[in-house]
Amino acid sequence: MSPLSSGLTLPQNAPPAFHILLKPTGAICNLDCKYCFFLSKEMLYPGSRFRMANDLLDTYLRQLLESHRAPEVAVAWQGGEPTLMGLDFFRRSVERAHTFKQPGQRLQFTLQTNGTQLNDDWCAFFKEHNFLVGLSIDGPQPMHDAYRVNKGGAGTFGQVLAGLDCLKKHGVDVNILCTVHAANQHHPLDAYRFFRDELGAEFIQFIPIIERATAELLPLANAGWSERPGGERPLYTLAGQQVTERSVQPEAFGRFLIAIFDEWVRRDVGRVFVQHFDSALANWLGAPGAVCIFNETCGHALALEHNGDLYSCDHFVEPAYKLGNITQTHLIELITSPEQLKFGRDKRDSLPRYCRECEVRFACHGECPRNRFIATPGGEPGLNYLCAGYKAFFNHIDRPMKLMANLLRQNRPAAEVMALLAKEDAARFAAAGRNEPCPCGSGKKFKQCHGRRE
Ligand code: SF4
Ligand code: SF4
Repeated sequence: MSPLSSGLTLPQNAPPAFHILLKPTGAICNLDCKYCFFLSKEMLYPGSRFRMANDLLDTYLRQLLESHRAPEVAVAWQGGEPTLMGLDFFRRSVERAHTFKQPGQRLQFTLQTNGTQLNDDWCAFFKEHNFLVGLSIDGPQPMHDAYRVNKGGAGTFGQVLAGLDCLKKHGVDVNILCTVHAANQHHPLDAYRFFRDELGAEFIQFIPIIERATAELLPLANAGWSERPGGERPLYTLAGQQVTERSVQPEAFGRFLIAIFDEWVRRDVGRVFVQHFDSALANWLGAPGAVCIFNETCGHALALEHNGDLYSCDHFVEPAYKLGNITQTHLIELITSPEQLKFGRDKRDSLPRYCRECEVRFACHGECPRNRFIATPGGEPGLNYLCAGYKAFFNHIDRPMKLMANLLRQNRPAAEVMALLAKEDAARFAAAGRNEPCPCGSGKKFKQCHGRRE
């Protein structure tokens, strides 16, 4: 076991790798997205300047790198809006990360941004250091501007697209982060085709917006989470069984994923990477690689605030889930603490019976505990709000997933599934009656869908 800079020894139960989202500006952002309850987390640090200090940054990077045994280390920034720290902070961060890098380690820098501050200097820097940039876009302009607005309430679509153009001009790897909410939940293909065909996206992540609230807090929550002159401001906590009017509906989220999957699996496998689908394939293969929400247990994806406070997860930045401060306790001690180990195990141990007996449990694992606030049909608490959507989605993709998993097991590319499905579709379409429902499952008559004569 290697000694750490603080004189400690790496705990025996330390994971070989883990992921920390660093929030150098805390919850501070230059935008005012209506669904962003993280804006309200500013209230956890009254009076703070919300800027990570240089010596704290050094402490963090040293601890992060000396605690990893896996060769690849993710160094990840998020917010709020991390670019508000200014480019010099990131230049220094990269330089210091290389200083603290252990022999044989490779660094993967990632940054999640709203894209509105980007220019040639930022993008050239990202390219030089191989950053993977997560860019938030919610679809074509009306879908994006519905909620992603600036402090004056104006849509940000034009600014974000300018940021994307700049990233593309410099050849930076971009992951599109699309939140799914009331304004785009019924338009999956418009959103997906926009990303694929108009933006040329290769990596896409869909993130359901679920803003929980108690019945008492709901009217305030519906009004938004940012500061408002003279208005009472709610602090978001994981409490209540209600959701805001902006939140995605469970069934609609399932239909959203299904519609995109059906298009993707017939024409885009191997050229567009959608996190939900990649992660599902890992679970169908029984291989590692699923994202934390679809793993049996979790606890290896934490969040670090601007002042060194470490929280169990980015979605649990609440006092009850604060593990400690890395200036007082080494982060690997906090990650391997009994509280954090229990946090990770609880994902599995708190599953209601309905999930434990579910036919797609192996793929879903009850999704993220943050969303488990409804009751099962039998009345047991702790079912995931998105259950209806995920049950439909995972059942729907079962067969194509099995086909892809079989191809991979035979060392053949998963993309061959497209030819297999095309053959099947052709046979089904040849046999379909023109007035019968279309075999593609669109719900339209065959003659109005795939059997249409142009
Ligand atoms: S709480 Fe949810 S988001 Fe956080 S690590 Fe666990 S599964 Fe992942
Ligand atoms: S689909 Fe529903 S019942 Fe099945 S594991 Fe997921 S949340 Fe539980």
